[in-house]
Amino acid sequence: MILAAKIFSQKKAQKMFLTRAISDCLLTLSYPQSCAICGRSVEERRFGVACEACWRATRIVSGTEGMCWKCGLLSEADVCRDDVRCGRCEAQPFTAARAIGPYKGALRESVLELKRQPYLPPHLETLLLAAARRQPLDQSTRLVPVPLHPRRFRSRGFNQASIIAQAISKGLGLPLDDVSLVRVSSTEKYRAGLDAKGRRDTVAGAFEVRHPRLVANEDILLVDDVFTTGATVSACSEALITAGARKVLVLTISRALL
Ligand SMILES: [Zn+2]
Ligand SMILES: [Zn+2]
Repeated sequence: MILAAKIFSQKKAQKMFLTRAISDCLLTLSYPQSCAICGRSVEERRFGVACEACWRATRIVSGTEGMCWKCGLLSEADVCRDDVRCGRCEAQPFTAARAIGPYKGALRESVLELKRQPYLPPHLETLLLAAARRQPLDQSTRLVPVPLHPRRFRSRGFNQASIIAQAISKGLGLPLDDVSLVRVSSTEKYRAGLDAKGRRDTVAGAFEVRHPRLVANEDILLVDDVFTTGATVSACSEALITAGARKVLVLTISRALL
């Protein structure tokens, strides 16, 4: 009886998946998505909310350009060398942070859309995987998404950082750890308009590691949608390192131009 119910629910899930896939195709044919930037129609669904031309106009970091080796801030240096530093990120406890590109154009629109829909377009997934496979992020042994406060999670229904982490975990075969790091204080709504110090103060101590044994001696790949001042990923890194993580590497879709 239980088996029959399980088979039935599996069949139901398959049917739902097919129905959704078919309706997805029909929707693309009958109601082409218009580009969130230029308004023209998006040629392929894999591009998400922006058209191919707007994606081409969006800056994507290749990993070879000049940047602060630690925080990934793009610089005037000719090449990416591990002795180049911006001079502003020494105190941040992560080892290195990288993003697909600056918070502009198609990347900005994709980040905004990911806060509304728990869906990562394949093109964005490809870009994330390419960034995760590059040094120094490629040393990671375990994936941890930046958690939302439970109250925030309930109102949104999903955590956008977990959606990103799930895709990377699947693509790279890295274990996904959605349980160890938790957000214990809800500070997000007070953050808009705060300066760097204000942001640091509001998130300091906002995160805790519930399962230190799971992160001990691991090289954590910490994942989020946006790196703004680095305050959030720094507070998470602090908690992870205190719990015994060997290092914390950070990957975000985009990085604010600060
Ligand atoms: Zn466009
Ligand atoms: Zn830096």
